[in-house]
Amino acid sequence: MTEIIKINATAPEKSKIAAAAKYIKNGGIVIFPTETVYGIGANAFDGNTCAKIFKVKDRPVDNPLIVHVSSFEMANDVGVIPKEYTDVIKKIWPSPITFIVKTRKKFPKEVTAGLETVAIRMPAHPVALALIIKSGVPIAAPSANPSKKPTATNANQAIKYFDGKVDCIIDSERSFFGVESTIIDLERFVVLRPGPFTPEEIERAFGKKIKVDKIAKGEINAEQAISPGTKYRHYSPETPFYLFEGQIDSLIEELDNIEQVPEFAFIGSSESCTKMSKAFGCSTIDLGGRSNMYEIAKNLYDGIILLDSLKVKFGVIEEFDEEGIGLAIMNRIRKATSHKTFPNEIRNLKKV
Ligand code: AMP
Ligand code: MG
Repeated sequence: MTEIIKINATAPEKSKIAAAAKYIKNGGIVIFPTETVYGIGANAFDGNTCAKIFKVKDRPVDNPLIVHVSSFEMANDVGVIPKEYTDVIKKIWPSPITFIVKTRKKFPKEVTAGLETVAIRMPAHPVALALIIKSGVPIAAPSANPSKKPTATNANQAIKYFDGKVDCIIDSERSFFGVESTIIDLERFVVLRPGPFTPEEIERAFGKKIKVDKIAKGEINAEQAISPGTKYRHYSPETPFYLFEGQIDSLIEELDNIEQVPEFAFIGSSESCTKMSKAFGCSTIDLGGRSNMYEIAKNLYDGIILLDSLKVKFGVIEEFDEEGIGLAIMNRIRKATSHKTFPNEIRNLKKV
């Protein structure tokens, strides 16, 4: 049985937070909202329950979790926050940024995958913060999605994925950003995963240059780096899904030259959706206007989830500039398409 508790996102009701926190204290799993995406969480010191999170998500065991804290003191109690960064981190947290630091506390192997480092984040969400405070422990939580599937950014999607499989789901508002937090390795000062807190903003806050890992940039995929040839899928629809690299007008031109294009759906900005539907009358999934890339990030996972419900032969998504949050958007798109770009099988279908 899963208890679904509706909680006000901006002014969480105390009694409801207490009810959800009780599950965490008693060794349960609670799905909760954060400003990035929904998380699926447990007491970070409870190895058995954290192991259950992996089972429920079907998550590879070597993929460690993020430990969510409610104060700087709690963060520094579980991990070693380097002195040189203390002031900046105090200033920028809570926010959608996760830091990898050396562990101070002994965590279950499920949380850190046996590493000597731990990922720590203080979420900027009243419900998430209140839940951690009331539970009295840091909460280990990966994103609320079955492995390989797009992440839930709203309670309805979390319920569709996990009703009956976890102890409690907090039903609150849609996540503000819609993509997972930025992950920074503080020792090497490198972005491991791009997210809503952009490299430009990090450089401004810390007053120094940050490197962006090749994997974060999407130049290679993580699995290639670890074991060449293995292809995990991430955030993926069931429908064949491709990235079109280039301007929308080139895509229109390409498709125009194919005599019979299999039924497809286009995912992209409002501007491009208008052009595509005018040119082909195809289904379109509108992620929002190009002038607001945050809106595009926010709608991305829902858009990918919607693709499967359209029952088309394939989906194609356009590319976005890799600036600001665009870097996080393209990183997720590359993963969702398994790095597949618009394929020759379609290009070569009978030219007019
Ligand atoms: P998720 O919240 O589902 O996006 O997963 C948490 C992310 O944090 C994964 O990409 C992990 O690989 C990453 N992560 C957690 N702990 C560490 C760590 N100690 N070192 C590097 N990455 C980590
Ligand atoms: Mg995840």
